[in-house]
Amino acid sequence: MNWWESAYAGSPPWDIGAPQPEIIKLVENNEIPKGRVLDIGCGTGDNSIFLAENGFSLTCMDIAHLAIDKGKTKAAKQKVKVDFRVGDALKLDGYFNQEYFNAVVDSGLFHTLDDDERPIFARQIRRVLVHGGKYFMLCFSDKEPGNEGPRRISKKEIEETFSKMFRINYIKDAFFATKWDKKGPKAYLTSMTKI
Ligand code: SAH
Repeated sequence: MNWWESAYAGSPPWDIGAPQPEIIKLVENNEIPKGRVLDIGCGTGDNSIFLAENGFSLTCMDIAHLAIDKGKTKAAKQKVKVDFRVGDALKLDGYFNQEYFNAVVDSGLFHTLDDDERPIFARQIRRVLVHGGKYFMLCFSDKEPGNEGPRRISKKEIEETFSKMFRINYIKDAFFATKWDKKGPKAYLTSMTKI
């Protein structure tokens, strides 16, 4: 069993059974373009379910079968339509046509990638977005002290990875909610537009 599968065999701290507050705010502020949304690295799907309930057409993907199974059960119970897929974010071209999604949402995936995976991921995300489509990313920020959990990401690293392929609209101070702390680790919320 790989690391992610075994995490979901237990009860990982990020799997809070509710959408992330930053994702709720994006919807409240009408920032997410209407239409098809891909939630990449969706875990057990709480952000996806929330977005689907708010009128978006949701596809979500995770590499962990167990997370997807849990998500499917949750969505069925809540009678919410979400297209759950097991798959690798670095190989999106094997699953989706180009220019298919109006927006991509990433809550906690980018900060798990290795340096050499980052440009591959950026290209894959860009490929599936329509022209003018948006990518929203919530990642651990370098303002979070210590080194437990995922890598800390600097604004410079975000810019280096994405600025050639996207217009960065903002990189804002944000936070993750965890099981232990409603206003937990410091994060950056980035909004970018495919150019
Ligand atoms: N978005 C969820 C989960 C965040 S944890 C939430 O907010 O709760 C990061 C997730 O990315 C995990 O579920 C992990 O299984 C998934 N993941 C890691 N590498 C991946 C890859 N290459 N492709 C797709 N999903 C991946």
